[in-house]
Amino acid sequence: MFRIRNALTNFMRGRYAQYDGLNKFLLVIWIICAFLNIFLRTWILSALGLVFAILPLLRMLSKNLPARAKEEMKYQQIKKKISDKIKLLKNRWRDRKTHVYISCPFCKNTLRLPKKKGKHGVICPCCKKDFNVKI
Ligand SMILES: [Zn+2]
Repeated sequence: MFRIRNALTNFMRGRYAQYDGLNKFLLVIWIICAFLNIFLRTWILSALGLVFAILPLLRMLSKNLPARAKEEMKYQQIKKKISDKIKLLKNRWRDRKTHVYISCPFCKNTLRLPKKKGKHGVICPCCKKDFNVKI
């Protein structure tokens, strides 16, 4: 028992071996493909499921640690960008009667302004430039 554990430890030494966010995402996709394949029974879903099941294993066994870390960082950036967009949409819906959301024409930052009809002068808190807004 001890020999097997020791051999496994030696085998995994220097490998990525992390169950990170990207691996979790790939495994969730694999589970979804497997679940859909129960009902649809297509070879495409089987092939996709196989790919999404093998990719996390290959990532875990990889010895190219910087590349795997870079992939994880990119995944986290994309995930954050998507969650920020969803959060903004939720806030827009919540404040739809009291506020308007506009983007600054200079820095593209999203600004939340009170919903008062008419033409207003706005100073962007991010780039400090002023511009006019018609609500
Ligand atoms: Zn700005």
